[in-house]
Amino acid sequence: MSGVPASFDVDWVVIGSGFGGSVSALRLAEKGHSVLVLEQGRRWDDEDFAASAWETAKAQWAPWLGMRGIMRITPFRDVNVLSGVGVGGGSLTWANTSYVPHSGAFYEHPQWAALADWRAELAPHYATAQHMLGVTEPPFDGPSERLMQGLAEDLGVPGSYRTTPVAVFMGEPGVEVDDPYFGGEGPRRTGCTRCGQCILGCRVGAKNTLVKNYLWLAERRGVRVLADRKVVDLRPLDGGDGAAGWAVEHRATPPALRGRVSTVRARGVVIAGGTLGTNDLLLRCRSRGSLNRLSPRVGRLVRTNSESITAATALQPAADYTGDVTITASIYPDEHTHITNNTYGAAGDGNALLFVPLVGAGSRAARVLKLLGAYARRPLRGLRSLNPVGWSRRTIMLTTMQSVDSSLSLALRRRRLWRGSVMDTTSGAGTPPANFLPVANAAAELAARRMGGYAQSTVLDVARGVPSTAHILGGAVIGAGPETGVVDARQRVFGYTGLLICDGSVMPANPGVNPSLTITALAERAIAHVPAKAG
Ligand SMILES: Cc1cc2nc3c(=O)[nH]c(=O)nc-3n(C[C@H](O)[C@H](O)[C@H](O)COP(=O)(O)OP(=O)(O)OC[C@H]3O[C@@H](n4cnc5c(N)ncnc54)[C@H](O)[C@@H]3O)c2cc1C
Ligand code: SF4
Repeated sequence: MSGVPASFDVDWVVIGSGFGGSVSALRLAEKGHSVLVLEQGRRWDDEDFAASAWETAKAQWAPWLGMRGIMRITPFRDVNVLSGVGVGGGSLTWANTSYVPHSGAFYEHPQWAALADWRAELAPHYATAQHMLGVTEPPFDGPSERLMQGLAEDLGVPGSYRTTPVAVFMGEPGVEVDDPYFGGEGPRRTGCTRCGQCILGCRVGAKNTLVKNYLWLAERRGVRVLADRKVVDLRPLDGGDGAAGWAVEHRATPPALRGRVSTVRARGVVIAGGTLGTNDLLLRCRSRGSLNRLSPRVGRLVRTNSESITAATALQPAADYTGDVTITASIYPDEHTHITNNTYGAAGDGNALLFVPLVGAGSRAARVLKLLGAYARRPLRGLRSLNPVGWSRRTIMLTTMQSVDSSLSLALRRRRLWRGSVMDTTSGAGTPPANFLPVANAAAELAARRMGGYAQSTVLDVARGVPSTAHILGGAVIGAGPETGVVDARQRVFGYTGLLICDGSVMPANPGVNPSLTITALAERAIAHVPAKAG
């Protein structure tokens, strides 16, 4: 590539194209660096996304089963994790919710409080992230929002209701216009039709995914994005600390024919594989000796938003809680708890199979027994709840998040039936995330009462007895030194030169709100410290 010494193929390699990776690619290119992004998932055009949750091959990522969709579900020992895959990372499946954390518990967490005044430090980067992602607060006011207002009253916190800031081009529904965000340099955009199918990917093109902003602009500045390439190893070129550059090995994403491993030589590397991708890569590189200077803290302080997903479904066949984007409202039952509504519009009937009658606290066995009891007590309702037809229109899913300080660890463990190892959770130094939040069940029951219907738990929560999260964070967290963290306050990996981590894995504390805006702001700040290319 032009301007790069013969010994390097490119100035920077970015591993992963989610929030942190896309910010890194654009900002490094703006500083004059040549950049190659390697992404294990595929590239999507708007019209390729699933039209309904029944199209599992487009909605779910399980490549060994031939499913190369945008959302991956990983069942770990202590938690079920939902994450995004593809060019654009988690932005392909995210529900656009873009909050700036308000809780001091995040900014002043002892893990990083001494390193900066984070609230002040991050404020300008949040503003940039909001502009780049097109965050807006439309006056949502439909049946789902009225339900949330009622729920806030039932929970005794009517004043806590607010509409959600979302990264969506609202415009005129279905009308295509010239780039509304970047002075004409961005793509043409179509106004949101409020179909509610954001988690399936947005076939309209209204959702502000990273391919419509950061990655779009990055590619116009010469960044190359290689899809369907999984990075499998990473090591300093001279075996030292990376000052002499890096070798990044990648190959076609399994189960494609393994083919030849390709190696790209770069001056620097940004690891941005998301919490799961980054921890997996770091743990494997350390175990095979490619990155043996890594902090022993890799895999520690893995957090969730301490979430619980429940749902309420109306029995009345004509009930309809759709008509807006996936998430439109928040309520706050107390200072640590945040509840949002979620819908798939009319396109999520396939998800009915993922929900069962609401089950309370208890071990896995106790919860399964409670579930069987619920079916036995109300067999007719049990049968109706198994009917997916119209379920999506009649259902509001509730995500309850808490800013409590729980944590797990990630580590490699040997496979029982097959060669090699897999990454799994182990108990961390902290309290693991609770597998039952009483307030989440109370909210589902109150919502069901208002809707004239029934409350539900996810089948994964009940069958596995562990919580589910779409917000997995940490494992390569910011710290004062390698004894406490994996990266410094500028997200440079301790022990190495020219190696940064820019994704959710660096988050040192639970933000208590959906994390993508914070991941974006942190990446903006980290790359702001990388010098421009000389000359
Ligand atoms: C259904 C759902 C809804 C969500 N809704 C919201 C929301 O409304 N608001 C919000 O703030 N957050 C939401 N999230 C969470 C959000 O998607 C994540 O927090 C965010 O995407 C994390 O950003 P990241 O930069 O850490 O990495 P990601 O966005 O996860 O991107 C990492 C990328 O790296 C790739 N990768 C990983 N390993 C490798 C490798 N070895 N080689 C090559 N590529 C690799 C992955 O395929 C992926 O594309 C949601 C998540 C899900 C699953
Ligand atoms: S509601 Fe529909 S059109 Fe609007 S952003 Fe979501 S998927 Fe796209």
